[in-house]
Amino acid sequence: MRRTVIAGNWKMNMTPKKTAEFIKALAPMVAGKDKCDIVLCVPAIDIPAAVEAAKGTNIKIGAENVHFKASGAYTGEISAEMLVEAGVEYVVIGHSERRQYFGETDKTVNLRTLAALEAGLKAIVCVGETLEERELGYTETLLKYQTKMALTNVKAEQLKNVIVAYEPVWAIGTGVTATAEQADEGNGFVRAAIAEAFGNDAAESITVQYGGSMNDGNAAELLSKVNVDGGLIGGASLKTDKFTAIVDAANA
Ligand code: PEP
Repeated sequence: MRRTVIAGNWKMNMTPKKTAEFIKALAPMVAGKDKCDIVLCVPAIDIPAAVEAAKGTNIKIGAENVHFKASGAYTGEISAEMLVEAGVEYVVIGHSERRQYFGETDKTVNLRTLAALEAGLKAIVCVGETLEERELGYTETLLKYQTKMALTNVKAEQLKNVIVAYEPVWAIGTGVTATAEQADEGNGFVRAAIAEAFGNDAAESITVQYGGSMNDGNAAELLSKVNVDGGLIGGASLKTDKFTAIVDAANA
C-alpha cells in the first residue's frame, strides 16, 4: 500500500506568530485523521515556531528548500543538517517557482535531493511541464526526464524517503486544475519513469502526489485516481478549513 501524503507548501507566506496560531487551530481539526501523512512545508524563518506548535500532533513539518553543500561560504543558504537539527522531516525540492525564478536546474534538484536523503530527510521532489511543453506534446518525455534526472544516484533503499510531486506548471497558483484524468496520467508517467530506473516494485511503492490548484472542491476527485497518492497544496494550505477538507478527502 502506498502512503497518501497531504502536504502544504506555504511559499512566502505566514510569519512565525501566524505559524504558531495556524497550527494550534489546525491540530484539533486534523487530529486522528491518520489515513494520510499531514505535512506543512513552511518558510525557513517559521520552522522553529512550526516545530514547536506541531509537537504532540499528527502534523509534520517540512522546509521549502535545502542547499546541497554540507556547510561553507554559501550566504543565505540552509543545509540539510540544519533542517534536521531544527526538527524538520520533509523538504520540497525543485518547485517550479524555484526553477522559474531562482535558476534551479535538473542538476541542482538532483544534488539537493541527494543531500536531503543523505541527511535522513524525506524529499518531496517536484516535476512538471509548462503549458507550451504540454501543447508541443512533450509531457511524457519531460516528466520522465525530470524524474530520472532528479533521482540520479539515489540508492534503491533511499527511495522510501522520496515523494515525487507532479505539478503541471500551468496549474500552480492559477486556479486552473488539471483534470483528474490529466493528473492521473501525469502521475502515471512519473511512476513509469521510476519503474524504468528502479524497477516495478519501487514504482508501485512510491508516493506520487499531484499539485496544482488542488482545493476543498476538487481534492476528492483527484485523490480518487489510482496514481494520485496525495497532494502538494499551495493556496489552499493557508486556510485551516480548506486544508482540513483536503485531509478529510484523503481519509474518506
Ligand atoms: C504549489 O505551491 O506547489 C501549488 C500546487 O500551489 P497551488 O496549490 O496554489 O496551485
